[in-house]
Amino acid sequence: MKPPTVTHDLYELDQDWNDEQRAVMLQIRKFVDQEILPTINEEHNNEVLRKDLIPKIGQLGILEMLAEGSLDPVTYGIVCRELERGSSALRSIVSVQGSLVIGCIRDFASAEQKATWLTKLGTMEAIGCFGLTEPDFGSNPAGMITRAEKTSSGFVLNGSKCWITNGTQAHVAIVWAKLDGVVKGFLVPTNTPGFTAQSIKGKWSFRTSDTGMLFLSNVEVPESALMPGAKSLGAAIKTLNNARYGICWGVAGAARGCFEEARQYVIDRVQFDGKPLASHQLIQNKLAWMAAEITNMELMSKRLGELKAAGRVKPYQVSLAKMNNCRKAIEVARVCRELMGANGIHSEYHIGRRMVDLETVLTYEGTEHIHSLIVGENLTGIPAYS
Ligand SMILES: Cc1cc2nc3c(=O)[nH]c(=O)nc-3n(C[C@H](O)[C@H](O)[C@H](O)COP(=O)(O)OP(=O)(O)OC[C@H]3O[C@@H](n4cnc5c(N)ncnc54)[C@H](O)[C@@H]3O)c2cc1C
Repeated sequence: MKPPTVTHDLYELDQDWNDEQRAVMLQIRKFVDQEILPTINEEHNNEVLRKDLIPKIGQLGILEMLAEGSLDPVTYGIVCRELERGSSALRSIVSVQGSLVIGCIRDFASAEQKATWLTKLGTMEAIGCFGLTEPDFGSNPAGMITRAEKTSSGFVLNGSKCWITNGTQAHVAIVWAKLDGVVKGFLVPTNTPGFTAQSIKGKWSFRTSDTGMLFLSNVEVPESALMPGAKSLGAAIKTLNNARYGICWGVAGAARGCFEEARQYVIDRVQFDGKPLASHQLIQNKLAWMAAEITNMELMSKRLGELKAAGRVKPYQVSLAKMNNCRKAIEVARVCRELMGANGIHSEYHIGRRMVDLETVLTYEGTEHIHSLIVGENLTGIPAYS
């Protein structure tokens, strides 16, 4: 029998990385193997967010590089892929802090706001969250109810936000609110009087992630809380597009993790006449299908990274990969679960957790439907949202 190929990486993508990218890949892979995988299933079962991980994520140095603007898109993608091989919830902590908060501040904040927050956010000394979704407005954030009113010294904010990652841990919240009917972005320290956050418990998915409701009741902020560049909903959407790019890579990592676990399982597990499961044609057919899908996901992500690095990436291109990769990652996870039989549903293995976490990733930062409508509008010229 020929020895099996070492990974599913049949197109040798990982061999293309430059020295820095390879070093980052190996650094994050080691972090996931040592710090995440040994305990994450127990934390998932107990619905626990490991707070000691927060400074450790800071020590990785990735967020500092994002705060300085010195991380190229493909390297960031590799980071997301490796983190999400461990856990989608873990990758989300980094995506929210890095793309949604640091990225938004870099793009839209004043020099003073940048000086106050970027360094602390880069080291994770301060945690940030991004409050766009509301209880009644998810896919259509333009309908948001949260309001800002001008006062003599600044603004007063009222409203609520729902499903906010890092919501109860955050020191600063980016709050999107309508001022005179136009969506604006505000930087709100979470210890401001009138600001409260409450954890959402009882999730089937993202059980190791802090997801919160934010309540703003007559929250008074100075004029300097308004991000001068965040002048419309377009600023929030641009920020989301950067985070969605990381998701495209991330879910490929989750699928990789499932694949590696299931492939080893079918090689080791013997049924019928002392033969490994992997010797059956039906099993090999499924492995080949998954290897093709994961390769597709990674190639799409890498191409997006190249377009991003060249300053040419367009929202519908990100939507195409977000839509495709999330759906395909869930399908891969389900096939892996099936290949592992009863063991596939047990928390001794990681597949079940990865599968339910991917349900969140399919929904947040634009659902599969919404991304298909964005692509559809580009293909036809006809918006079909309402
Ligand atoms: C764990 C978790 C973390 C999250 N973190 C954040 C965060 O940090 N910050 C933040 O702001 N938000 C966050 N979200 C919210 C997330 O972005 C929203 O859940 C998402 O945008 C979908 O909104 P909704 O849940 O209200 O679904 P809805 O908008 O009510 O959609 C329900 C269903 O209807 C479909 N649908 C809606 N409109 C259309 C249409 N026009 N055509 C066809 N189908 C349609 C959707 O695709 C979906 O299948 C998080 C969500 C989760 C689950």
